[in-house]
Amino acid sequence: MSKIIWLIVLSGLAFVLGYNLNSNSPTNIESTSNISTKTFNWKMVTTWPPNFPIFQEGIVQMAKDIEVMSNGKLKIQVFAGGELIPSLQTFDAVSQGTVEMGHGAAYYWAGKVPEAQFMSSVPFGMTTKGMNAWLYFGGGLELWQEIYEPFNVIPFPAGNTGIQMGGWFNKKINSIDDLKGLKMRIPGIGGKVLAKAGGTPILLAGGEVYTALERGTIDATEWVGPFHDYRLGLNRAAKYYYYPGWHEPGTSFELIVNTEAWEELPAYLQKIVEIATYSVNQRIYSEMEVRNIETLKEIEDKIEILAFPAEVLSKLKYLTQISLDEEAEKNPKFKKVYHAYKKFQQDNAAWSAISTDAYGKL
Ligand code: CA
Repeated sequence: MSKIIWLIVLSGLAFVLGYNLNSNSPTNIESTSNISTKTFNWKMVTTWPPNFPIFQEGIVQMAKDIEVMSNGKLKIQVFAGGELIPSLQTFDAVSQGTVEMGHGAAYYWAGKVPEAQFMSSVPFGMTTKGMNAWLYFGGGLELWQEIYEPFNVIPFPAGNTGIQMGGWFNKKINSIDDLKGLKMRIPGIGGKVLAKAGGTPILLAGGEVYTALERGTIDATEWVGPFHDYRLGLNRAAKYYYYPGWHEPGTSFELIVNTEAWEELPAYLQKIVEIATYSVNQRIYSEMEVRNIETLKEIEDKIEILAFPAEVLSKLKYLTQISLDEEAEKNPKFKKVYHAYKKFQQDNAAWSAISTDAYGKL
């Protein structure tokens, strides 16, 4: 048996070597002439604080990988949020060609491209597995390219947080009425849903969250998951840690590239960038899982971790539906993406019910 395998391996090697050494083959000449000798020096800005674990680290690693894979032909200098431009100007900077690349999450541009929120996460939306399936093979990425096209920007999925936590509270949430009057840091559509439940959504950058909660400027906050939340010290500012993160069930990140810059790249460098985004997409998600597992073990005996009551979740789900329907009525582009997303989510739910969901109950 092993002899047969070796024969296959050796003949494969001979084929590869012969192919590469045969410089007269038409394929080789063609590919050589297509390979530009030009070196590209690009800049990338991100929405993350400097050295932000997993997200910024993952994207810095991706830039290094691209440099190695391209044999130094594509060098990308990565700037964290605020180092070159403020975090939330990332999209504009890439759109205008101030920099060639950016990394962040599509819901940050909700004010400019509301329908882009479906490409990051929406409340009661799809988890990571559904998002990846939809984006890569369910038509999601094509829609994403279409909605960014007028902005001169090409998107790639590039990381996922996995399902987030519901957040930190200083009082127990036993009914939907407990959200009335609650000042909570919660962005995007999740914030709109909180407002419908009688709460007040507050927008705060990561750096301000701990102080605001500790001083009582806000009553509650969501952030990411055990790993990032604990690093921010939120456990020292609130008593109860609620789950699940109904508002962000599997947030996708994006690598965005300026269209003209992309078109200047030879095909082999475009392919290297594309494949590198698959890699970082998996890297960030897998590392999130491991760090959250480790942190949960460390903190589970020290803090009170509570589930939102089913009745609260079902009311939030209902209010989410109303919020999304309202937005769709106002905006045809939002409606188009919403319907495509919802259709895939429903089909995916039917399959999940008899696969992962059923298995999860064992
Ligand atoms: Ca969050």
